[in-house]
Amino acid sequence: MGSTFIQRLVCVQCGAACQPGQRNTCPHCGPDEGILDVEFDLRRAARTFTAENLRRRTRSHWRYRELLPLDEANCPTDGLVGWTPVVEAPRLAKELGIGRLRLKNEGLNPSGSFKDRPSSVAVAHAMQQGAGVVACASTGNAASSLACSAAMAGLKCNIFVARFCPEGKLAQLLAYGARVFRVQGTYEQAYELCNACCREYGWYNRNAAINPYLVEGKKTAGLEIAEQCASDPPQWVSCSIGDGCSIAGVHKGISSMHRMGLIDWSTRMLGVQAEGVAPVAQALETGRLDRSGAGHTYADSINVPVPRNWRKAVSAVRDSNGTIVTASDTQIMEAVRLTGRLAGVFAEPAAAAAISAVAVARQRSVLDGQSDVLALITGNGLKDVAGAIRAVGEPHDIAPSMNAVRAIVEAKL
Ligand SMILES: *Cc1c(COP(=O)(O)O)cnc(C)c1O
Ligand SMILES: [Zn+2]
Repeated sequence: MGSTFIQRLVCVQCGAACQPGQRNTCPHCGPDEGILDVEFDLRRAARTFTAENLRRRTRSHWRYRELLPLDEANCPTDGLVGWTPVVEAPRLAKELGIGRLRLKNEGLNPSGSFKDRPSSVAVAHAMQQGAGVVACASTGNAASSLACSAAMAGLKCNIFVARFCPEGKLAQLLAYGARVFRVQGTYEQAYELCNACCREYGWYNRNAAINPYLVEGKKTAGLEIAEQCASDPPQWVSCSIGDGCSIAGVHKGISSMHRMGLIDWSTRMLGVQAEGVAPVAQALETGRLDRSGAGHTYADSINVPVPRNWRKAVSAVRDSNGTIVTASDTQIMEAVRLTGRLAGVFAEPAAAAAISAVAVARQRSVLDGQSDVLALITGNGLKDVAGAIRAVGEPHDIAPSMNAVRAIVEAKL
């Protein structure tokens, strides 16, 4: 099943291997801890995955087909997902006190977030398996991106959201024609209900803990960073952490490129969690996950009290000699403002968190005045307009008169 280059699936807790198609989680470690990682035969893939061949391929993440869990016949050859731009942000770098800052703007993906990468892979994988209906439980971007990809491919889509889904994301779901179940309960309940429905109705399950394949879509951001910065690598890549599979995917992409000999460098991963919900930051220190599930942050996309892919995130950070910092909601709001004003990029709170990571790491001397950082801006600010307004303030309400304008323009002069 799947890519001819998949070698095996390996449990991230006990290291046991299983063959593709057998199971979705490790039989020894169970569905909570037995998350599987898909291993590719990089040596064999490298025969066709060459810099020269890549140059001729589509400018979307489908250019990386050898490293996706899809047969060649089921891998799209063109599309809109990925190959997002990397842009310099010199004024933001100066404000943050580092040498250089680049932004990779994932908000330019079709549904406005990084999640278009795994969701488009999930839809292609569902079609490869002959499924006509996909489903997921999500607080927002995983769902809106799945609904978008499903609509483009003509699949039916069922979404289970918890109550705190921001309106922009909810509107997207409905616009893309998904059937939306807004569950009057916790996110965990929505998640379990979705899994039960997938078992009952045979829907393809996009939930990241259940489905080890779609996470490979997140790797493509790392593959792109390696290609786009091949001759000019950043020292650090900053990325926010909720469940943990995004930062792990980015690191896996960069290190795959290294192992395949397309680049000769690696980067340190700078992870960030919200101060209020920081179980992965804690697990990096203690080696264990606190499953109490307490806490809250206003950055909804990283409001994940019980992450399922925490081991992958911790391994990526350790393996890259990186670190995880935490940022308060106030610092995240400040980052929303600065990223908009000094780089012209409107980021949703969880995306701006990658900028607050730079600020915090600089204060703590993890970074210095020469540091060269690439920050992954994971989602578009329009997704959470209410959250943005809280960060950037209200307009000037005035009467329709010159005097009213003068009073503001000439104030404090
Ligand atoms: C999902 C998401 C993240 C975090 O990714 P995880 O894989 O959950 O760690 C960060 N930012 C945005 C905008 C997201 O949608
Ligand atoms: Zn195991």
